[in-house]
Amino acid sequence: MDSILTINNLTKKFGSLTAVKNLSFTINKGNVYGILGPNGSGKSTTLGMVLNVVNKTEGNFYWFDGNTSTHNALKKVGAIIERPNFYPYMTAYQNLKLVCKIKEVDFNKIDEKLEVVGLLDRKNHKFKTYSLGMKQRLAIASALLNDPEILILDEPTNGLDPQGIHQIRGIIKQIAAKGTTILLASHLLDEVEKVCSHVLVLRKGEKLYSGRVDEMISSHGFFELKCNNQDNL
Ligand code: ADP
Ligand code: MG
Repeated sequence: MDSILTINNLTKKFGSLTAVKNLSFTINKGNVYGILGPNGSGKSTTLGMVLNVVNKTEGNFYWFDGNTSTHNALKKVGAIIERPNFYPYMTAYQNLKLVCKIKEVDFNKIDEKLEVVGLLDRKNHKFKTYSLGMKQRLAIASALLNDPEILILDEPTNGLDPQGIHQIRGIIKQIAAKGTTILLASHLLDEVEKVCSHVLVLRKGEKLYSGRVDEMISSHGFFELKCNNQDNL
């Protein structure tokens, strides 16, 4: 199986706090891979390390077959790890044109990606008129412009109303169905159950489980985990 991301014994310490401890897992092509854990469990720190925005303390990781530098590999990674930030007085289309210039992508990709996230008919509206859900969907379109091998999303449904949450989850599933690998960090068990094929469960920076979501749900001990933690694992 083609591996997209391989992580070996990765550790991050912030002073005396160990935010991520000795973590190992592999994401293969086509996986919809969830990182599930409560706030503060180390999800964003893990994403930050593999995206080279947080320096690791120990261990290692590599992208794809390991023969590409992280810098070059990241050109094939689409990531949304912050709240979407575009120019408020420019339209969605104009904002994506700027992204195309930076990423050296042809403008004719814009409509295709806006269609994927259901915003084609709003492309000439100013960004500031968009709802939070629409802003998040525009960020997804932006991250898809250069046809990444993997799309990384950090808590993409946080702060959205139920309809917005449903739309984003549907879009993620649609993108995955077309063959893009997904890495999704979430504190919501039901999000991972609905969207993901595989999951890494984190608590206090340590791995509690990694493997298939259906096997986790049918496994001994899961019921207890769910009862003890409700939706907020
Ligand atoms: P999650 O994304 O699962 O909510 P984080 O990875 O953001 O968790 O945080 C894991 C732990 O690391 C938390 O205890 C958090 O306070 C701490 N942490 C994260 N970033 C920093 C930082 N830049 N400096 C110090 N501590 C940090
Ligand atoms: Mg986080």
